[in-house]
Amino acid sequence: MTQRVSRVYNTRRRVLVTGGAGFIGSHLCERLLADGCDVLCVDNFFTGTKDNIAHLIGSPHFELMRHDVTFPLYVEVDEIYNLACPAAPIHYQYDPVQTTKTSVHGAINVLGLAKRVKAKILQASTSEVYGDPQVHPQTEAYWGHVNPVGLRACYDEGKRCAETLFFDYHRQHKLRVKVARIFNTYGPRMHSNDGRVVSNFVVQALKGEPLTVYGDGSQTRSFCYVDDLVEGLVRLMASPDEFTGPVNMGNPVEFTIGELAQQVIALTGSKSRIEGKPLPSDDPRQRQPDIALAKAKLGWVPTVALAEGLPKTIDYFRKGV
Ligand code: NAD
Ligand code: UDP
Ligand code: UDP
Repeated sequence: MTQRVSRVYNTRRRVLVTGGAGFIGSHLCERLLADGCDVLCVDNFFTGTKDNIAHLIGSPHFELMRHDVTFPLYVEVDEIYNLACPAAPIHYQYDPVQTTKTSVHGAINVLGLAKRVKAKILQASTSEVYGDPQVHPQTEAYWGHVNPVGLRACYDEGKRCAETLFFDYHRQHKLRVKVARIFNTYGPRMHSNDGRVVSNFVVQALKGEPLTVYGDGSQTRSFCYVDDLVEGLVRLMASPDEFTGPVNMGNPVEFTIGELAQQVIALTGSKSRIEGKPLPSDDPRQRQPDIALAKAKLGWVPTVALAEGLPKTIDYFRKGV
């Protein structure tokens, strides 16, 4: 009843973004506002910051709420994007118990909320649900190879359990759910000191420090520009109810880490040299998403090449370094 009355006065879609002050979340909030939504951004600022969404504060259609998703949340919304969760190993291993709680208790709370208000709900899952994969590239049909007691388990198993909860709420309570398995994403507002390769290289190049290439640099990765990912998430949310995913989202174009280092040096005009460092013992040789499902169901393919996305990322870091 409440919902019906409020719709008379407000025809905008009311969208909750948990983790909205983070790297990806802040871009998603921006996009949803541009699409004419009323956006409620919920964040506990563990790895996110108000700086990421400062430019949105003051918009009459943007609301910021400090809240930890491991606690219940009672709000009225039409759609929920659940992004709250630290994403980089140094962040999620800082307080691993809290990481699991964020994924699992967080999922239960937002699913309970979605059930009460009949909202559509999307989970930001991860390629890490595949663990240390024995199949390349990974399709959604692959069940993964995860160590349940290792240092990464708080993240990997937390995200796997969140997926389980999403599908059980779907089967048991008929919730409209969507699960996106996100692969390496980069762009402005990514963390400058989380040890990930893109931010490391860009910051090192801008400071004129050596770029630390682990191993011989022949291992490959694929990098998705954040605007492409956000487009994928928005399309997934808008897809027919029968399409729940899980669906891979990432850029399948592979680069060697050595090539990435060269590109960063060229684009920054840096005098930095490349310095070899030992390869971490569990470093995968290759990580590449199979995005055939996203292409078929959502008509989605990434369109921003590394040569286009890297300069925008470099500009962002240039202002902060
Ligand atoms: P991020 O750390 O920048 O964003 C996560 C946000 O969640 C932060 O703002 C943080 O403060 C908030 N948060 C953490 N715990 C919370 C809690 N208990 N309650 C409320 N807010 C909380 O990371 P990101 O790269 O923007 O990642 C966003 C989502 O996408 C995460 O769920 C992550 O697992 C997923 N993901 C990201 C990548 C990537 O390459 N960046 C890859 C795979 C999956
Ligand atoms: N919940 C919430 N907001 C809501 C409705 C529920 O945070 O608007 C939380 C509530 O704390 C509950 C959880 O979501 O523990 C799961 O809710 P559900 O209705 O599925 O289960 P139950 O209340 O029966 O545990
Ligand atoms: N890497 C590197 N130098 C760095 C940081 C990372 O050569 O300063 C390499 C790392 O060994 C890996 C790749 O870059 O092969 C991607 O590392 P990252 O931690 O960013 O992501 P993931 O391994 O999870 O894909």
